[in-house]
Amino acid sequence: MAISFELEPADVELYEAARELLLTAHHTDNHRVAAAMRGASGAIYLGLHIGSKRVNICAESSALANARMAQEKAVKSVVAVSMDGNGQPQVTNPCGLCRELLRNYGSETSVLVDAEGRVGVISIKDLLPYPWVRAAEASWVLEPPIAGNHRANHRGERTG
Ligand SMILES: [Zn+2]
Repeated sequence: MAISFELEPADVELYEAARELLLTAHHTDNHRVAAAMRGASGAIYLGLHIGSKRVNICAESSALANARMAQEKAVKSVVAVSMDGNGQPQVTNPCGLCRELLRNYGSETSVLVDAEGRVGVISIKDLLPYPWVRAAEASWVLEPPIAGNHRANHRGERTG
């Protein structure tokens, strides 16, 4: 797992954009999380959690929709923030659904994460190394489970 704690000014700018949105739009039930996403063009897109008692849509999804509506071909980086106990926005890790969603839209996306108290940057590939894939759509041939110690390459062919 390759996490970096050397943040770029662009990472901090992304965080500030999400923070500013949450300070403006936060609502205990309806808008608990804000997200900011940088597209390949360098532009920043915002997203906001929308929710009710029973339905919650993550902030990352609307940020992604905004980026796609602006014709962004790829997502460079993303951050989500939620309120801490003192009403201050802090970095929040993407949930499992968002990891799968983000991974589907690009495997090179960087994600700002709360690494147990330190904000770091990590690749979505490291957050979700083995995403769900339909067996029939995999680009490899998967051999059946074999007991014991064996090695296989990514095509499923034995190498030794
Ligand atoms: Zn989520």
